Amino acid sequence: MPEPLKNSLTVRCSCGRVQLEAAGAPIISLACHCDDCQAGSLAVEALPGAAPVRDAAGGTPYVLYRKDRVTCIEGATLLKSYKLKDISATNRIVATCCNAAMTMGFDDSRHWVSMYRARFETDVPPLEMRICTKFKAGDSVIPDDLPAYPGFPLKFMAKLVAAWIPMLLRR
Ligand SMILES: [Zn+2]
Ligand SMILES: [Zn+2]
Repeated sequence: MPEPLKNSLTVRCSCGRVQLEAAGAPIISLACHCDDCQAGSLAVEALPGAAPVRDAAGGTPYVLYRKDRVTCIEGATLLKSYKLKDISATNRIVATCCNAAMTMGFDDSRHWVSMYRARFETDVPPLEMRICTKFKAGDSVIPDDLPAYPGFPLKFMAKLVAAWIPMLLRR
């Protein structure tokens, strides 16, 4: 058994019945402006009583963790997966008790899960960048508070790969 990781963060849905635990340091915290995230965030925000997940610039802030480091510690049966279309590669996991969007992930074996940053209450990991800004909605303005990239910057891809290698080595 590996050592338990320090700095676990617990995030809750709006009503508190669903709790997820994320262990260790996140891979990265970023806001994504891609068209899929825009549509997906709009869809989950449109659920009755749902809390917003997007920021003022129309981006969706996430905190990315290794998939094996995120566990549902409370209320797993309340989680429901939403897809934009049947063929969509992404799904959004919503706590059905209060329609709070919890995570965004992929159907395939990608090694990370994107947790909605709006769910974090304390020790919120600071945002590091905005990505896919070329997809931004016509009237939205990308603030210059963070480095912004039109697509997926190398720095982001490098962090994903760096998180993946120890998983391949089973560490
Ligand atoms: Zn809830
Ligand atoms: Zn996106």
